[in-house]
Amino acid sequence: MKLGKLIVLTGPSGVGKGTLLRSLLQRHVELDISVSVTTRSPRPGEINGKDYYFVSREQFAEMVQADALLEWAEYAGNCYGTPRQQVNEKIHQGKWVILEIELEGARQIHKTFPSALRIFILPPDMDELENRIRGRGHDEETAIARRLNHAQTEIAAADEFDIKIINDDLEIALTHIETAIFNI
Ligand code: 5GP
Repeated sequence: MKLGKLIVLTGPSGVGKGTLLRSLLQRHVELDISVSVTTRSPRPGEINGKDYYFVSREQFAEMVQADALLEWAEYAGNCYGTPRQQVNEKIHQGKWVILEIELEGARQIHKTFPSALRIFILPPDMDELENRIRGRGHDEETAIARRLNHAQTEIAAADEFDIKIINDDLEIALTHIETAIFNI
């Protein structure tokens, strides 16, 4: 069977990666996601095993030790990682797997999985990004400041990616992502 593809979607918190990803999955049945592991606490409505696998720091450290993560990074005080086996299985089943991950993880994937297509999503500008983060209403003031600070660092690295897409109009951004993925 033909091997699948790995696609990395990166961009600052609040840029709308989640919404873009949900729309892509609705439109294209051949696309699949990887559910990440995190030490962050679940937000209201988040489901273990669907949004993330929520684990303790000890459990996360054990997974790192056992080389069970394809990539992992610490972000805003919590650890996040991609389970290696889940991704390998899907790729070998011929699926196209999208990883929605932050910058450090995307850099690791570039080294360990150089054929992965890496897409960076940019906000129209920083004010709009702040509005979107505040609009979600689930972060404390210190967390918002940390996310904005981190966003600057991530945006500065956007040129490292294969493709940069500005998420101003959702439909236009989606079309650009589809073109990048399916080469239409
Ligand atoms: P959040 O706490 O808002 O769900 O996620 C925070 C950041 O962690 C986001 O930028 C998200 O893309 C990233 N993230 C989620 N899962 C993973 C993962 O498995 N690995 C890495 N490196 N980053 C992740």
